[in-house]
Amino acid sequence: MVIMKKRILVTGGAGFVGSHLCERLLREENDVVCVDNYFTGSKENIAHLLSNPYFEAVRHEITFPLYVEVDQIYNLACPASPVHYQMDPVQTTKTSVIGAINMLGLAKRTKARILQASTSEVYGDPEVHPQTEDYWGRVNPIGIRSCYDEGKRCAETLFFDYYRQYQLPIKVVRIFNTYGPRMHPNDGRVVSNFIVQALRGEDITIYGSGQQTRSFCYVDDLVDGLIRMMNSAAETTGPLNLGNPGEFTMLELAEKVLHFTRSTSKLVFLPLPQDDPRQRQPDISRTRAKLDWSPKVELDEGLQKTIAYFKNIVG
Ligand code: NAD
Ligand code: UDP
Ligand code: UDP
Repeated sequence: MVIMKKRILVTGGAGFVGSHLCERLLREENDVVCVDNYFTGSKENIAHLLSNPYFEAVRHEITFPLYVEVDQIYNLACPASPVHYQMDPVQTTKTSVIGAINMLGLAKRTKARILQASTSEVYGDPEVHPQTEDYWGRVNPIGIRSCYDEGKRCAETLFFDYYRQYQLPIKVVRIFNTYGPRMHPNDGRVVSNFIVQALRGEDITIYGSGQQTRSFCYVDDLVDGLIRMMNSAAETTGPLNLGNPGEFTMLELAEKVLHFTRSTSKLVFLPLPQDDPRQRQPDISRTRAKLDWSPKVELDEGLQKTIAYFKNIVG
Protein backbone atom coordinates (compact mmCIF):
# COMPACT_ATOMS: atom_id res chain seq x y z
CA MET A 1 0.00 0.00 0.00
CA VAL A 2 1.32 3.46 -0.89
CA ILE A 3 1.10 5.84 2.04
CA MET A 4 0.22 9.39 0.97
CA LYS A 5 2.24 11.57 3.27
CA LYS A 6 1.76 15.31 3.37
CA ARG A 7 4.67 17.13 1.73
CA ILE A 8 5.64 19.99 4.01
CA LEU A 9 8.19 22.71 3.37
CA VAL A 10 9.80 24.39 6.39
CA THR A 11 11.91 27.44 5.51
CA GLY A 12 14.43 28.20 8.25
CA GLY A 13 14.15 24.52 9.18
CA ALA A 14 17.72 24.31 10.50
CA GLY A 15 17.12 27.11 12.99
CA PHE A 16 16.05 26.96 16.60
CA VAL A 17 12.24 26.79 16.14
CA GLY A 18 12.41 25.24 12.65
CA SER A 19 14.41 22.20 13.77
CA HIS A 20 11.87 21.42 16.51
CA LEU A 21 9.05 21.84 14.00
CA CYS A 22 10.72 19.50 11.45
CA GLU A 23 11.24 16.93 14.20
CA ARG A 24 7.59 17.01 15.26
CA LEU A 25 6.28 16.93 11.65
CA LEU A 26 8.41 13.85 10.94
CA ARG A 27 7.13 12.20 14.12
CA GLU A 28 3.63 12.77 12.77
CA GLU A 29 4.54 10.87 9.59
CA ASN A 30 4.93 13.73 7.14
CA ASP A 31 7.37 14.19 4.29
CA VAL A 32 9.48 17.20 5.27
CA VAL A 33 11.65 19.48 3.11
CA CYS A 34 13.84 21.77 5.18
CA VAL A 35 15.19 24.82 3.35
CA ASP A 36 17.90 26.93 4.98
CA ASN A 37 20.92 29.08 4.08
CA TYR A 38 22.55 28.27 7.47
CA PHE A 39 22.99 31.95 8.38
CA THR A 40 21.87 31.44 11.98
CA GLY A 41 20.80 27.81 11.76
CA SER A 42 23.15 24.85 11.74
CA LYS A 43 23.50 21.33 10.45
CA GLU A 44 23.89 20.14 14.06
CA ASN A 45 20.29 21.19 14.72
CA ILE A 46 19.02 18.74 12.09
CA ALA A 47 21.78 16.11 12.07
CA HIS A 48 19.61 13.67 14.02
CA LEU A 49 16.88 13.90 11.34
CA LEU A 50 19.06 13.16 8.31
CA SER A 51 18.76 9.38 8.56
CA ASN A 52 14.98 9.63 8.08
CA PRO A 53 14.20 9.00 4.39
CA TYR A 54 11.26 11.42 4.62
CA PHE A 55 13.51 14.30 5.62
CA GLU A 56 15.35 16.37 3.03
CA ALA A 57 17.71 19.26 3.81
CA VAL A 58 18.15 21.79 0.99
CA ARG A 59 20.67 24.64 1.13
CA HIS A 60 18.80 27.56 -0.37
CA GLU A 61 18.47 31.30 0.03
CA ILE A 62 14.75 32.19 0.03
CA THR A 63 15.32 35.58 -1.59
CA PHE A 64 15.80 33.47 -4.74
CA PRO A 65 12.89 31.60 -6.36
CA LEU A 66 12.29 28.03 -5.26
CA TYR A 67 10.46 25.36 -7.23
CA VAL A 68 9.32 22.34 -5.21
CA GLU A 69 5.98 20.53 -5.03
CA VAL A 70 4.43 20.72 -1.57
CA ASP A 71 1.08 20.75 0.27
CA GLN A 72 2.00 23.06 3.15
CA ILE A 73 4.63 25.76 3.75
CA TYR A 74 5.82 27.03 7.12
CA ASN A 75 7.78 30.23 6.39
CA LEU A 76 10.21 30.60 9.30
CA ALA A 77 13.37 31.73 7.49
CA CYS A 78 14.61 34.96 9.06
CA PRO A 79 17.20 35.67 11.74
CA ALA A 80 15.28 36.29 14.98
CA SER A 81 17.76 37.66 17.48
CA PRO A 82 18.56 41.40 17.46
CA VAL A 83 22.31 40.69 17.25
CA HIS A 84 21.86 38.58 14.12
CA TYR A 85 19.19 40.57 12.33
CA GLN A 86 21.16 43.79 12.86
CA MET A 87 24.37 42.22 11.44
CA ASP A 88 23.14 42.69 7.85
CA PRO A 89 19.93 44.70 8.14
CA VAL A 90 19.42 45.05 4.38
CA GLN A 91 19.53 41.27 4.01
CA THR A 92 17.04 40.97 6.92
CA THR A 93 14.47 43.09 5.08
CA LYS A 94 15.15 41.20 1.83
CA THR A 95 14.61 37.88 3.59
CA SER A 96 11.29 38.99 5.06
CA VAL A 97 9.94 40.76 2.00
CA ILE A 98 11.42 39.07 -1.09
CA GLY A 99 11.41 35.74 0.76
CA ALA A 100 7.70 36.15 1.49
CA ILE A 101 6.96 37.01 -2.15
CA ASN A 102 8.78 33.90 -3.36
CA MET A 103 7.10 31.61 -0.84
CA LEU A 104 3.69 33.13 -1.61
CA GLY A 105 4.36 32.64 -5.34
CA LEU A 106 5.25 29.02 -4.61
CA ALA A 107 2.07 28.58 -2.54
CA LYS A 108 0.01 30.14 -5.32
CA ARG A 109 1.41 27.79 -7.97
CA THR A 110 1.17 24.63 -5.85
CA LYS A 111 -2.09 25.65 -4.06
CA ALA A 112 -0.36 24.96 -0.75
CA ARG A 113 -1.42 26.32 2.62
CA ILE A 114 1.16 28.80 3.84
CA LEU A 115 1.92 29.92 7.39
CA GLN A 116 3.94 33.02 8.20
CA ALA A 117 6.01 33.17 11.39
CA SER A 118 5.36 36.80 12.25
CA THR A 119 6.32 38.35 15.54
CA SER A 120 5.23 40.37 18.55
CA GLU A 121 7.72 42.95 17.19
CA VAL A 122 4.94 44.13 14.86
CA TYR A 123 3.52 45.77 18.02
CA GLY A 124 6.80 47.67 18.57
CA ASP A 125 7.03 49.41 21.94
CA PRO A 126 3.33 48.96 22.73
CA GLU A 127 0.90 51.36 24.44
CA VAL A 128 -1.70 48.58 24.66
CA HIS A 129 -1.01 45.98 27.32
CA PRO A 130 -1.39 43.02 27.01
CA GLN A 131 -1.23 43.10 23.22
CA THR A 132 -4.31 42.01 21.26
CA GLU A 133 -4.28 41.21 17.56
CA ASP A 134 -6.39 44.32 16.85
CA TYR A 135 -3.65 46.63 18.09
CA TRP A 136 -1.78 48.21 15.13
CA GLY A 137 1.47 48.73 16.98
CA ARG A 138 3.97 51.47 17.64
CA VAL A 139 7.01 50.82 15.49
CA ASN A 140 9.88 53.15 14.64
CA PRO A 141 10.29 52.91 10.84
CA ILE A 142 13.92 54.14 10.78
CA GLY A 143 15.56 52.64 13.88
CA ILE A 144 17.98 49.75 14.31
CA ARG A 145 15.15 47.24 14.91
CA SER A 146 13.14 48.44 11.89
CA CYS A 147 14.70 46.02 9.37
CA TYR A 148 13.12 43.20 11.33
CA ASP A 149 9.92 44.87 12.57
CA GLU A 150 8.99 46.55 9.29
CA GLY A 151 10.13 43.55 7.24
CA LYS A 152 7.76 41.35 9.22
CA ARG A 153 4.96 43.92 8.96
CA CYS A 154 5.40 44.08 5.18
CA ALA A 155 5.37 40.27 5.03
CA GLU A 156 2.01 40.31 6.85
CA THR A 157 0.72 42.82 4.29
CA LEU A 158 1.84 40.56 1.45
CA PHE A 159 0.16 37.54 3.03
CA PHE A 160 -3.16 39.39 3.34
CA ASP A 161 -2.89 40.83 -0.19
CA TYR A 162 -2.25 37.36 -1.66
CA TYR A 163 -5.26 36.19 0.37
CA ARG A 164 -7.53 38.98 -0.94
CA GLN A 165 -6.15 39.03 -4.49
CA TYR A 166 -5.60 35.31 -5.14
CA GLN A 167 -7.65 33.63 -2.37
CA LEU A 168 -4.52 31.94 -1.04
CA PRO A 169 -5.07 29.83 2.10
CA ILE A 170 -2.90 31.86 4.49
CA LYS A 171 -2.15 31.57 8.21
CA VAL A 172 -0.36 34.31 10.14
CA VAL A 173 0.86 33.89 13.70
CA ARG A 174 2.58 36.51 15.84
CA ILE A 175 5.14 34.72 17.94
CA PHE A 176 6.24 36.15 21.30
CA ASN A 177 9.66 35.45 22.84
CA THR A 178 10.32 31.73 22.62
CA TYR A 179 13.14 29.78 24.24
CA GLY A 180 14.42 26.23 24.64
CA PRO A 181 17.12 23.78 23.58
CA ARG A 182 18.98 24.62 20.30
CA MET A 183 18.90 28.35 20.82
CA HIS A 184 22.19 29.63 19.46
CA PRO A 185 24.54 30.13 22.46
CA ASN A 186 25.92 33.39 20.98
CA ASP A 187 22.80 34.86 19.47
CA GLY A 188 22.47 37.46 22.20
CA ARG A 189 18.89 36.67 23.21
CA VAL A 190 18.24 37.11 26.86
CA VAL A 191 17.47 33.52 27.90
CA SER A 192 20.51 32.01 26.18
CA ASN A 193 22.76 34.89 27.30
CA PHE A 194 21.80 34.58 30.97
CA ILE A 195 22.09 30.77 31.02
CA VAL A 196 25.46 30.70 29.25
CA GLN A 197 26.80 33.49 31.51
CA ALA A 198 25.56 31.72 34.65
CA LEU A 199 27.03 28.36 33.62
CA ARG A 200 30.41 29.95 32.83
CA GLY A 201 30.46 31.98 36.04
CA GLU A 202 30.55 35.21 34.00
CA ASP A 203 28.67 38.40 34.88
CA ILE A 204 24.97 38.42 33.98
CA THR A 205 24.42 41.37 31.63
CA ILE A 206 21.23 43.27 32.44
CA TYR A 207 20.42 45.95 29.85
CA GLY A 208 18.90 49.06 31.39
CA SER A 209 17.33 48.75 34.82
CA GLY A 210 16.09 45.21 34.19
CA GLN A 211 12.52 46.35 34.84
CA GLN A 212 11.45 45.82 31.21
CA THR A 213 9.23 42.77 30.80
CA ARG A 214 8.92 39.87 28.38
CA SER A 215 6.67 36.79 28.25
CA PHE A 216 8.52 33.57 27.49
CA CYS A 217 7.05 30.58 25.66
CA TYR A 218 8.71 27.16 25.70
CA VAL A 219 9.49 25.89 22.19
CA ASP A 220 7.35 22.71 22.42
CA ASP A 221 4.28 24.80 23.19
CA LEU A 222 5.02 27.08 20.26
CA VAL A 223 5.46 24.18 17.82
CA ASP A 224 2.13 22.77 18.98
CA GLY A 225 0.52 26.15 18.26
CA LEU A 226 2.11 26.38 14.80
CA ILE A 227 0.76 22.96 13.81
CA ARG A 228 -2.70 23.69 15.19
CA MET A 229 -2.78 26.93 13.24
CA MET A 230 -1.72 25.26 9.98
CA ASN A 231 -4.47 22.67 10.35
CA SER A 232 -7.18 25.07 11.53
CA ALA A 233 -10.38 25.85 9.63
CA ALA A 234 -9.82 27.56 6.27
CA GLU A 235 -11.35 30.84 7.46
CA THR A 236 -8.84 31.08 10.33
CA THR A 237 -6.25 33.29 8.67
CA GLY A 238 -5.09 35.04 11.83
CA PRO A 239 -3.19 37.01 12.78
CA LEU A 240 -3.18 35.09 16.05
CA ASN A 241 -0.82 35.63 18.96
CA LEU A 242 1.26 32.63 20.06
CA GLY A 243 3.00 33.11 23.37
CA ASN A 244 2.89 32.43 27.06
CA PRO A 245 1.11 35.22 28.99
CA GLY A 246 3.36 34.77 32.07
CA GLU A 247 5.18 38.13 32.23
CA PHE A 248 8.55 38.63 33.94
CA THR A 249 11.06 41.45 34.35
CA MET A 250 14.60 40.74 33.16
CA LEU A 251 15.72 40.95 36.81
CA GLU A 252 13.24 38.21 37.75
CA LEU A 253 14.51 36.11 34.85
CA ALA A 254 18.14 36.60 35.97
CA GLU A 255 17.26 35.51 39.50
CA LYS A 256 15.55 32.35 38.26
CA VAL A 257 18.52 31.45 36.06
CA LEU A 258 20.94 31.98 38.96
CA HIS A 259 18.76 29.82 41.20
CA PHE A 260 18.41 26.88 38.77
CA THR A 261 22.08 26.91 37.73
CA ARG A 262 23.25 27.41 41.36
CA SER A 263 25.58 30.02 39.90
CA THR A 264 27.37 32.73 41.86
CA SER A 265 27.59 35.07 38.86
CA LYS A 266 27.06 38.77 39.63
CA LEU A 267 24.60 41.06 37.89
CA VAL A 268 26.06 43.94 35.86
CA PHE A 269 23.99 46.75 34.38
CA LEU A 270 24.69 47.86 30.78
CA PRO A 271 22.99 50.52 28.62
CA LEU A 272 19.57 49.69 27.21
CA PRO A 273 19.68 49.20 23.40
CA GLN A 274 17.80 51.71 21.22
CA ASP A 275 14.02 51.13 20.84
CA ASP A 276 14.03 48.23 23.32
CA PRO A 277 10.32 47.57 24.11
CA ARG A 278 9.47 48.23 27.75
CA GLN A 279 6.81 45.58 28.11
CA ARG A 280 5.40 42.67 26.21
CA GLN A 281 2.64 40.22 27.04
CA PRO A 282 0.36 38.38 24.63
CA ASP A 283 -3.40 38.41 24.96
CA ILE A 284 -4.13 34.86 23.78
CA SER A 285 -7.91 34.79 24.25
CA ARG A 286 -8.52 34.76 20.49
CA THR A 287 -5.96 31.98 19.94
CA ARG A 288 -7.51 29.94 22.76
CA ALA A 289 -10.92 30.24 21.15
CA LYS A 290 -9.80 29.53 17.56
CA LEU A 291 -7.17 26.83 18.13
CA ASP A 292 -8.05 25.49 21.57
CA TRP A 293 -4.38 26.16 22.36
CA SER A 294 -2.69 27.44 25.46
CA PRO A 295 0.88 26.97 26.64
CA LYS A 296 1.51 24.14 29.11
CA VAL A 297 5.13 24.61 30.15
CA GLU A 298 5.74 27.14 32.91
CA LEU A 299 8.92 29.23 32.88
CA ASP A 300 10.53 27.32 35.79
CA GLU A 301 10.15 23.96 34.06
CA GLY A 302 11.20 25.25 30.63
CA LEU A 303 14.25 26.99 32.06
CA GLN A 304 15.43 23.79 33.72
CA LYS A 305 15.13 21.87 30.43
CA THR A 306 16.97 24.62 28.59
CA ILE A 307 19.72 24.76 31.22
CA ALA A 308 20.17 20.97 30.90
CA TYR A 309 20.73 21.44 27.15
CA PHE A 310 23.25 24.26 27.57
CA LYS A 311 25.19 22.32 30.23
CA ASN A 312 26.08 19.82 27.49
CA ILE A 313 27.32 22.36 24.97
CA VAL A 314 28.88 25.12 27.07
CA GLY A 315 32.41 24.54 28.28
P1 NAD B 1 16.74 31.23 14.03
O1 NAD B 1 17.65 32.36 13.68
O2 NAD B 1 17.26 30.15 14.91
O3 NAD B 1 16.17 30.53 12.71
C1 NAD B 1 16.00 31.18 11.48
C2 NAD B 1 16.49 30.24 10.39
O4 NAD B 1 16.30 30.87 9.11
C3 NAD B 1 17.98 29.92 10.51
O5 NAD B 1 18.16 28.54 10.35
C4 NAD B 1 18.60 30.71 9.35
O6 NAD B 1 19.80 30.13 8.88
C5 NAD B 1 17.48 30.70 8.33
N1 NAD B 1 17.52 31.81 7.38
C6 NAD B 1 17.68 33.13 7.66
N2 NAD B 1 17.64 33.85 6.52
C7 NAD B 1 17.43 32.96 5.50
C8 NAD B 1 17.30 33.11 4.11
N3 NAD B 1 17.37 34.30 3.51
N4 NAD B 1 17.11 31.98 3.36
C9 NAD B 1 17.05 30.77 3.94
N5 NAD B 1 17.16 30.57 5.28
C10 NAD B 1 17.35 31.66 6.04
O7 NAD B 1 15.44 31.88 14.65
P2 NAD B 1 14.17 31.22 15.36
O8 NAD B 1 14.15 31.69 16.75
O9 NAD B 1 14.15 29.76 15.09
O10 NAD B 1 12.99 31.94 14.58
C11 NAD B 1 12.27 31.28 13.56
C12 NAD B 1 11.19 32.23 13.03
O11 NAD B 1 10.29 32.57 14.07
C13 NAD B 1 11.75 33.54 12.48
O12 NAD B 1 11.01 33.91 11.33
C14 NAD B 1 11.49 34.52 13.59
O13 NAD B 1 11.33 35.83 13.10
C15 NAD B 1 10.20 33.98 14.18
N6 NAD B 1 10.07 34.39 15.60
C16 NAD B 1 10.85 33.81 16.56
C17 NAD B 1 10.75 34.24 17.88
C18 NAD B 1 11.59 33.64 18.99
O14 NAD B 1 11.51 34.11 20.12
N7 NAD B 1 12.37 32.61 18.75
C19 NAD B 1 9.85 35.26 18.21
C20 NAD B 1 9.08 35.83 17.20
C21 NAD B 1 9.19 35.38 15.90
N1 UDP C 1 8.00 31.70 -7.32
C1 UDP C 1 8.78 30.72 -6.75
N2 UDP C 1 8.37 29.41 -6.85
C2 UDP C 1 7.22 29.06 -7.51
C3 UDP C 1 6.44 30.09 -8.07
C4 UDP C 1 6.84 31.41 -7.96
O1 UDP C 1 9.81 30.97 -6.14
O2 UDP C 1 6.93 27.87 -7.56
C5 UDP C 1 8.42 33.09 -7.17
C6 UDP C 1 8.56 33.79 -8.50
O3 UDP C 1 9.94 33.85 -8.84
C7 UDP C 1 7.98 35.15 -8.30
C8 UDP C 1 7.38 35.15 -6.92
O4 UDP C 1 7.41 33.79 -6.48
O5 UDP C 1 9.00 36.13 -8.29
C9 UDP C 1 5.94 35.63 -6.89
O6 UDP C 1 5.16 34.82 -7.72
P1 UDP C 1 3.80 35.32 -8.33
O7 UDP C 1 3.24 34.22 -9.17
O8 UDP C 1 2.92 35.83 -7.27
O9 UDP C 1 4.21 36.58 -9.16
P2 UDP C 1 4.79 36.76 -10.62
O10 UDP C 1 5.50 35.49 -11.00
O11 UDP C 1 3.60 37.03 -11.43
O12 UDP C 1 5.70 37.91 -10.45
N1 UDP D 1 18.53 41.68 27.55
C1 UDP D 1 19.30 41.81 28.68
N2 UDP D 1 20.50 41.20 28.71
C2 UDP D 1 20.98 40.44 27.70
C3 UDP D 1 20.19 40.29 26.53
C4 UDP D 1 18.96 40.93 26.48
O1 UDP D 1 18.90 42.48 29.65
O2 UDP D 1 22.10 39.91 27.81
C5 UDP D 1 17.19 42.31 27.50
C6 UDP D 1 16.92 43.13 26.25
O3 UDP D 1 17.37 44.46 26.40
C7 UDP D 1 15.40 43.03 26.17
C8 UDP D 1 15.08 41.66 26.75
O4 UDP D 1 16.24 41.28 27.49
O5 UDP D 1 14.81 44.02 26.99
C9 UDP D 1 14.78 40.61 25.68
O6 UDP D 1 15.80 40.65 24.74
P1 UDP D 1 15.91 39.62 23.51
O7 UDP D 1 17.04 40.08 22.67
O8 UDP D 1 15.96 38.23 24.03
O9 UDP D 1 14.53 39.75 22.74
P2 UDP D 1 13.63 40.97 22.24
O10 UDP D 1 14.21 42.27 22.69
O11 UDP D 1 13.62 40.85 20.77
O12 UDP D 1 12.32 40.72 22.88
